[in-house]
Order: sequence, then structure tokens, then C-alpha cells
Amino acid sequence: MKALITGGAGFIGSHLAEALLGRGDEVTIVDDLSTGRFENIAHLVDHPRFHFAIETITNETVMDRLVSECDVIFHLAAAVGVELIVKSPVHTIETNIMGTRAVLQVANRYRKKVMIASTSEVYGKSNKIPFREDDDRVMGPTTRSRWCYATSKAVDEFLALAYWKEKHLPTVIMRFFNTVGPRQTGQYGMVVPRFVTQALKGEPITVYGDGQQSRCFTHVSDTVRAALLLVDEPKAVGEVFNIGSPEEVTILELARRVKNSLGSPSEIVFIPYDEAYEAGFEDMRRRVPDTTKLFRLTGWEARYNLDETILAVAEYVKKNLP
Ligand code: UDP
Repeated sequence: MKALITGGAGFIGSHLAEALLGRGDEVTIVDDLSTGRFENIAHLVDHPRFHFAIETITNETVMDRLVSECDVIFHLAAAVGVELIVKSPVHTIETNIMGTRAVLQVANRYRKKVMIASTSEVYGKSNKIPFREDDDRVMGPTTRSRWCYATSKAVDEFLALAYWKEKHLPTVIMRFFNTVGPRQTGQYGMVVPRFVTQALKGEPITVYGDGQQSRCFTHVSDTVRAALLLVDEPKAVGEVFNIGSPEEVTILELARRVKNSLGSPSEIVFIPYDEAYEAGFEDMRRRVPDTTKLFRLTGWEARYNLDETILAVAEYVKKNLP
């Protein structure tokens, strides 16, 4: 199979590229290096089945050629990271909506399957736990920038599903739940690499709010394995799938686990949301996936627990600390 990965120099994209190469596929990535990093793919550039284009996905000429040459597209290019989103809402909305529109249009021209990376953010503030793919979504007001991310990704989902319904373009929606692992950076807000870096440097571990909000952190290898199972499964087409670990943890407990497993002297401090993000910031209290649908179709289950994931991140951060 010839796969094209948009956002392939990013954290998840680079792991997906490795996994596809590992099973014998040909891989081309396209990335504008806005949040992706060349270092993430530097070890792959000499691989005979790996190709890359440093380019934006809205460059139609380049995308036309790349899409015409591939069998399947994994569309991962997007503005991500709550901190980045709150700071740059225009960039977030434009990148996510225009980027996905561009990818789907070219894919439709050549009738190529598209695997769309979406997010658990689309469930918003819903408190019906665990989240099932067909549950209602609960969004905050448009005056709170945070919700523009969930809304833009929901538009991406609508558009991809509409291409399937109306034009029979095969599309699959993958809702990722807090994917973490080596190569993720804390620069755009992601909590696990942040806490691990703070703990390793002996700096205060910054818990936002009261720390009682919870998440299910999913090792990137588990996420990538789910993407590969789904791309190979014809029955996945036109469907939405949650991809996430069942292990729920509060952010305060995460801070303690990181501190203890790394034997760090760091103190744990609490920072109000208004200070961490912006005045009136709204967080999601709990976020837990129901992965029954994915399990029934592919047999997928998470293999990594949180402690293993923390250690994998720590190993990477240690090697890359300045
Ligand atoms: N968070 C935190 N300290 C940090 C960064 C994030 O307490 O330094 C919190 C954040 O407010 C959220 C959770 O950790 O409640 C997960 O944040 P992240 O940005 O990793 O992912 P999200 O689930 O919000 O998309």
C-alpha cells in the first residue's frame, strides 16, 4: 500500500509512518513543519520506501500530485494543543476546516480513501461517561476560544461523512483520546510531556484548576495500531471510532504518578485556569472513551498502561533535554 500522511512530521504522524514502513508499505508525508518537526522523521529519510514533501496541504498543485500517487490518505495535519488553540483561534479554524476541505476535494478527484484524525474534544462538556460515538455533543459558547477546536474538528467529521454519503468517497473518522508518547512536546500545552519535563528538571509541576478533571492517556503505539486495523477493515468506511485507553486518571493523580515514578523532588502547585489559559476558560471535567465499537470490529484493546506510558515519555524527554 502507498500511504500519504498529512502532518506526517508531527508526533502521531511520525509514529504512523514508522509503523507503515515496518509492515512493508510505501510512505509519503506532507508537512509544513508548523508544529511538526524535521527531527521526528530525520531517521526515516534514507529509507527506500519513505518520501517527504515540506509543504502546506492547501497547495493544490503539490497535493494533486501526491494524492494521485497514493492509495490511501491519513489526514493528520491540524492545529492542535489547547494552549495554541486559545492563543491562535483564527489559525486553528482556518487550518482545520480549509485543510480538511482541500484534502477531501483532491481525494475525491482521484477516489482515494481518507482516514480522518479527529479528537475526543468533539464530545465537549458532555457528562455522559463513557463517551460513545453516537452520543450528543455539548459545546460551550462561541465567546470561549477553546470550543473552536472541537467545532472545527466536528465540521471536518461532518464534511468527511458527507463525502461518503453523497459522493461515496470512502472516509473513516478516528477520534483520538489524549494520545501521548515519545516525540510529543509540551510546547502547545500537552500535559504529560509538561509534567515529565518539570519533574525531571525539579521544577514545580503545574496542575491547572483543582486537578480533579480526568483524562484517559493513550500510548501512541496503541493509537497507531488502531489506525492500521481500521484502514484494513472495509466495514470501517463511513463510520466514527473512539480510540483511547480505558484507564481514567485525574490530573492531580497524574502529577503524583509522574513525580513518584521519576523520583522527582518537584513540588506540585495549583494554577487557576484563568492564569493558565485565558479569563473564563472552560475545561472538560471527565473524558473517557467507550471503545466497544472498535473492539467489536477489529479486536483492538489498549496494551500500554499509564505507568508504562509515563516511562516511555520520560525516556524520550531525558534524551532530549537541553
Ligand atoms: N494541564 C495541567 N497542567 C499543564 C497542562 C495541562 O494541569 O501544564 C491540564 C489541562 O488543563 C487539562 C489536562 O491537563 O485539564 C489535559 O490537558 P492537555 O492540554 O494535555 O489535553 P486536553 O485534554 O485538554 O486536550
